[in-house]
Amino acid sequence: MDREVLEVDVLFVGGGPANLACALHIAKLFEEDGGFDETLSVLIEKGGEIGSHAISGAVMDPRGIRELIPDFLEKDCPVEAEVGDDDIWYLGKKGKLSAFWHPKPLRNHGNYVVSLGELTRWMGGLVEETGRVEVFPEFPGSELLIEDGKVVGVRTGDRGIDRHGEKKPTYEPGIDIRAKVTVLGEGAHGSLAKQLIREFDLGGKNPQVYALGVKELWQMPEGAVPPGRVYHTLGWPLPAKTFGGGFIYGMKGDVWDVGFVTGLDYEDPHTDPHGLFQAFKTHPAIAPLLEGGKMIQYGAKTIPEGGWFSRPKSHVPGALLIGDTGGNLNPLRLKGIHTAMKTGMLAAETILAALKEDDFSDASLGRFEEKVCDSWVYDELWASRNIHQGFEKGRKRGLFSAWWQIVTGGKFGGDKLDMEPGHERMQTVAEAHGPNAAPFERAKYDGEKTFNRLDDVYASGTKHEEDQPPHLVVTDPDICRTKCAEEYDNPCTRFCPAEVYEMEEDPERGGMRLRINAGNCVHCKTCDIMDPYQIIDWTVPEGGGGPRYHRL
Ligand code: SF4
Repeated sequence: MDREVLEVDVLFVGGGPANLACALHIAKLFEEDGGFDETLSVLIEKGGEIGSHAISGAVMDPRGIRELIPDFLEKDCPVEAEVGDDDIWYLGKKGKLSAFWHPKPLRNHGNYVVSLGELTRWMGGLVEETGRVEVFPEFPGSELLIEDGKVVGVRTGDRGIDRHGEKKPTYEPGIDIRAKVTVLGEGAHGSLAKQLIREFDLGGKNPQVYALGVKELWQMPEGAVPPGRVYHTLGWPLPAKTFGGGFIYGMKGDVWDVGFVTGLDYEDPHTDPHGLFQAFKTHPAIAPLLEGGKMIQYGAKTIPEGGWFSRPKSHVPGALLIGDTGGNLNPLRLKGIHTAMKTGMLAAETILAALKEDDFSDASLGRFEEKVCDSWVYDELWASRNIHQGFEKGRKRGLFSAWWQIVTGGKFGGDKLDMEPGHERMQTVAEAHGPNAAPFERAKYDGEKTFNRLDDVYASGTKHEEDQPPHLVVTDPDICRTKCAEEYDNPCTRFCPAEVYEMEEDPERGGMRLRINAGNCVHCKTCDIMDPYQIIDWTVPEGGGGPRYHRL
């Protein structure tokens, strides 16, 4: 098939904070250098617009944005508020204990409550204003173009293919964007990064482990929410062996940003991260905060939690991995926006030098890694290098280990503690609950304070073209009806926060079969990460499909 080919110098895949920072910084460097007026750079984003798929907590450390845009506040950066009061609560089933002392890395004074969606929309506008980077929303990267061991660009997804794989009258083939450098900033567990890591064997010293964050925005009565108020919680409703906790942040306009994070290395296959979040909101310390309010938005995403030793190799000939895609999130602070921006800036400096030398080899782009190691990103990630590992032995051991690692700058436990991939830690139902385990029962939700997945998906604004091939590819559906049902009780029906996976009666063969409601998918990638048999492949749907997040 003849495809249109677009030749560019730099291709950014993904419109998150890392790539937007990289694009902004490189535009500034081109301007200062003066020799790059003919250089063509393009940023593609799978969402309907920049920001529509962006979601994070988020309390942002301004260190990254201050280096990128020193006058970001004067330039109307859409921060919600500077952090004011900041509490950490340990929740029991009925009560709470407030932490009387906050370790320095966990203090939030001087940080900002932000909506990552609004922040990236604003940054996208600044990138377009530079006139040096073309921004194309609704263009998902579906495949890496690799020639002679070198990344030479990305093929974008076709449009107008029906559910059976046939061309519709609206068919438009994707284009091949050939680039001297391709920068992958797709967020956690990007589908192209997955291909790159596999084909170039880039895995880190430890496997990457993830957590799933699920959140809602709540519109509260006037005067109910102090902007910049921050609460973090540990404990209930998580079992002691599972990593995670809750958060509540005050936004402007009397909106609470409330969410819950569950480590995707849990053992119990009956774990239900969306259900844990709904339970969290009913806790006697949390429920009064939401009294009189209305849920207005929902979203979910995964967070790369592994830290320094889980970072994949960040460079290959022709490509760089930055931000969450490169595993640059600080797992102690659960913060990655500032490190994403910084890695974007360091990538821009690396690319400028590579363009000047016309050298896009592994050695040339490898200067990015040297820059990371000479920067504060390394200082932060090295000091928190063994944080998540401690929690694999349970919350008490994790907190004890985290305490010592904070005190010793990460030295406690030796230079490197090992980790297993999260899905390998999942036990069978019999191992977790005994041979006569009761079947899993979904909690009942009232539709006012607590919501089922479908109500929440509705609040995420998620839409996909209905008549297209499923973007969730289960490579062996027979496993779902047989081994997985028997051993794990189909955990995809619980870990997916968007009611995509359902077991239904199979009228043809009898028994049960897997039904995939792909249109509900909020693109969190949990299924690709946590499936115990690793038979779910998340691929990009037709451009523009997915959530339409506002202020998440
Ligand atoms: Fe997340 Fe997978 Fe569910 Fe989509 S189908 S919402 S990627 S778990």
